[in-house]
Amino acid sequence: MLVLFDIDGTLLRTAGAGMNAMLATARELFPAHSFSFDNVAISGRLDRLIWRDLMANARVETGGDHHETFRARYGHHLAEAFRSGAQAIPLDGARALVDALHQRSHSGVGLLTGNYEHTGRMKVANAGFSLEPFQFNAWADDGWHRRDLPPIALARYCAATERSMSAANTVIIGDTPLDIDCAHFNGCKAIAVATGAHGVDELQAHAPDLLVKDFSEWESVAQWIADQASNHASNHASS
Ligand SMILES: [Mg+2]
Repeated sequence: MLVLFDIDGTLLRTAGAGMNAMLATARELFPAHSFSFDNVAISGRLDRLIWRDLMANARVETGGDHHETFRARYGHHLAEAFRSGAQAIPLDGARALVDALHQRSHSGVGLLTGNYEHTGRMKVANAGFSLEPFQFNAWADDGWHRRDLPPIALARYCAATERSMSAANTVIIGDTPLDIDCAHFNGCKAIAVATGAHGVDELQAHAPDLLVKDFSEWESVAQWIADQASNHASNHASS
């Protein structure tokens, strides 16, 4: 199995450090404009798209190397925030779940996230996770929409391991309807966790394959993933 974790609301919470750093970046680069996240959808969307909406909202014309500059300065501001006391808080059971999956020889683990690579790694490290388990990743640098990302993580898995991996054997874990959508759109399984901005009832309406309120019972989530692998193997054997 390949198991891909979303970051914000799934592995950790930053209490707005990411959004504040984005605002600080926008204000630094375009001091004559006024920026806010009013009417900018955040949840489950890629940072690159959030950047575009943030700029459009403030009537900043984008083009040239605007996005590259923004991405780099955002990294600077987020690092600065973490240095001056902002903290990413790991969610209950998330580390244990990642470690348990990482220790299984037949599982690959990665990040599938709306964060840029540099800021995503910063958040994960700041929350106290080792980055070592996350070998097969897809980031906001890789596309505009979440649906673009699963094939990228899969291709990276196949290239790095020289093994094949099907979408059906890939599990995407996230806290938003868009995490569920990107999994099902690509033929992957979806685990939804209600530790972000969306409650159990709202996530249930998007029909994830497994829904949990949090990872406090991470063993049962790990077991569910193991069961998918063996179901898949026995379906193959009987077909
Ligand atoms: Mg999330």
